[in-house]
Amino acid sequence: MKTFHIAVLPGDGIGGEVVAEAVKVLRAVEAQMTGVAFDLTEHSVGAAEYLKNGDPLPASAFAACRAADAVLLGAMGLPSVRWPDGKELTPQIDLRERLDLFCGLRPIRLYHAAHCPLKNYGAGEIDFVIFRENCEGLFSSRLVPRDLGADEARDTLLITRRGAERICQAAFREARRRHRKVTLVDKANVLPSMVFFREVFDSVARHYPDVETERVYVDAMALYLVQRPHTFDVIVTENMFGDILSDLAAGLIGGMGMAPSADIGEGCAVFQPSHGTAPDIAGKGIANPIATILSLALMLDWLDHPETKAAAKRINDAVEAVLADPANRTRDLGGALSTTQMGDLVAARC
Ligand code: ATP
Repeated sequence: MKTFHIAVLPGDGIGGEVVAEAVKVLRAVEAQMTGVAFDLTEHSVGAAEYLKNGDPLPASAFAACRAADAVLLGAMGLPSVRWPDGKELTPQIDLRERLDLFCGLRPIRLYHAAHCPLKNYGAGEIDFVIFRENCEGLFSSRLVPRDLGADEARDTLLITRRGAERICQAAFREARRRHRKVTLVDKANVLPSMVFFREVFDSVARHYPDVETERVYVDAMALYLVQRPHTFDVIVTENMFGDILSDLAAGLIGGMGMAPSADIGEGCAVFQPSHGTAPDIAGKGIANPIATILSLALMLDWLDHPETKAAAKRINDAVEAVLADPANRTRDLGGALSTTQMGDLVAARC
């Protein structure tokens, strides 16, 4: 029997509500697997944990994440809970950086025409994946203390050769599993750091002559994602650009409740919905759990065991089948299903 040890971090706001549905789906697929089991251990992290014990990411929880086969995370942080200097808690970014989870994987797939604000797009006709560099870029100086009396403030956009190479390589490898096209998003017309990123991209691209490449400035990309989202396959970009474009992309497929994500390093990975804690709907039982359920599928695929890979496919197929029926919608998609009703439907289809 192969047992996978999963650290489960429900976190704050709707985090616990959506993670509960992903766990329900995990147990449903586990029941159909042969020779595979999941040992789930829950850890308290986030704003509520900070209020209790003064640390949003306690050492014991961090150690458990490092030791686990994978981490399933809800969402962390609440707008009203801040460090004494007024900064927001960002334990999810700390976790990414401390575990060196450099590869932010954000699949964007349209499951039903009615979820898309654009005309003429049907199920599966928007289907691309964003590779966001997670550990440097414009977030790199975020922890540098500010001089509060100063007349200026600066942030550094850091691109290292190693950082750029590994995210570009990950994007090209994925392109070979998909439709063999990679789009680099940068700002190489203005920023020297982005000229460097493009040079590294070009040198990686030379090793993948079978993959088509495209280079687009980030401002144009905001336009093209709205005008021709169907033309993209794999998109690779810097940390901050990836942060912004993945929310725009989520808007094309029904919103944050539909957008899964994975933060992947060397042998360590965290799977979570792209959304935050959504304090405006927390505790009401109306959050859409699909993004978290799809993140679970990413986790099962990444665990790379024949049984877990098959289970990932069963979950993706179940989500597709459930969402094909317009009656099956949570509030964010214009329906009336509760979080648990949606989780039940997917679990029953797996
Ligand atoms: P963060 O800064 O942590 O990303 P945020 O406050 O910017 O958080 P979200 O928490 O993702 O953003 O919420 C953005 C909007 O999307 C809110 O209106 C929220 O209610 C909605 N939303 C987010 N997740 C879901 C979900 N799973 N189901 C339904 N609506 C959601």
